[in-house]
This record gives sequence, structure tokens and C-alpha cells, in this order.
Amino acid sequence: MTNAFSYACRDCEGMEACPASITAETKEEVWQLMGHHARIAHQENPDDWDQETRDYLEMLIKEVEV
Ligand SMILES: [Zn+2]
Repeated sequence: MTNAFSYACRDCEGMEACPASITAETKEEVWQLMGHHARIAHQENPDDWDQETRDYLEMLIKEVEV
């Protein structure tokens, strides 16, 4: 077993219908993948996320064992 970081898009307010989840070894990688996902699935530009949004998303990234 090893520790990893996980983000489930449905945990985000307003994204309850989105089935995507991301798990990666580092938080940094999760952030990169969240950015890709936001662009592809939600037509969002992660460069536009303000600090409040980033803090909120940060809370949704959970440490998991895989
Ligand atoms: Zn999503």
C-alpha cells in the first residue's frame, strides 16, 4: 500500500453529475490532471481560477491509500 492523492469532481459544488475522479502519487500531479479535466469536460480555464476557488478545490483533494 502506498499513499496517493485523490480528487472526485462530484464533490465539487455544482459538479454532482460528473463521474470523473483523479488519483495520482503527488498533489501536484492531481492539480495538473484537474486542470486538464476542467478544460476538457467543463470548458473551464484553470488559469482563471482565483485563490478562493483553489483553496476550495484543495480541500477536496484527499489523501488515500492505494
Ligand atoms: Zn468534472
